[in-house]
Amino acid sequence: MTIARLRAVLRQRCPVCLQGRMFRGVFAMNAACPVCGHRFERETGFFQGAMYVSYALGIAEAFVLALVAMFVLAPRLGLFGAIAVAVVVHVACVPLLFRYSRVIWAHLNIGTLDAADPARLAAVRARDGRPSR
Ligand SMILES: [Zn+2]
Repeated sequence: MTIARLRAVLRQRCPVCLQGRMFRGVFAMNAACPVCGHRFERETGFFQGAMYVSYALGIAEAFVLALVAMFVLAPRLGLFGAIAVAVVVHVACVPLLFRYSRVIWAHLNIGTLDAADPARLAAVRARDGRPSR
């Protein structure tokens, strides 16, 4: 993974051109990249695979929250206070988990994109400084 791709993932940008925004709202995705035209949901159910990413991110987040709750919050707030804070923080993180699971899934699968896809060809030409046809 290149630095440019990692930066695009962090900024939630298109997996093809690494420039266009994938989301237009908290949960609303753009149907296509506003820069290169890449259709984000490449086929029906494409983002079902993002559930695997979401599961992994959720487990990592829950692990960190559990550690913070156990060692930082519980001594100060008690067990139920620590659990309440952890649940509130987790619920607040749901939009981030949703968005990053889709972004990471799209970037993980970019190698399976048809090389003859016009949007991908145009984006690669634009990135390389060659004029598109
Ligand atoms: Zn794009």
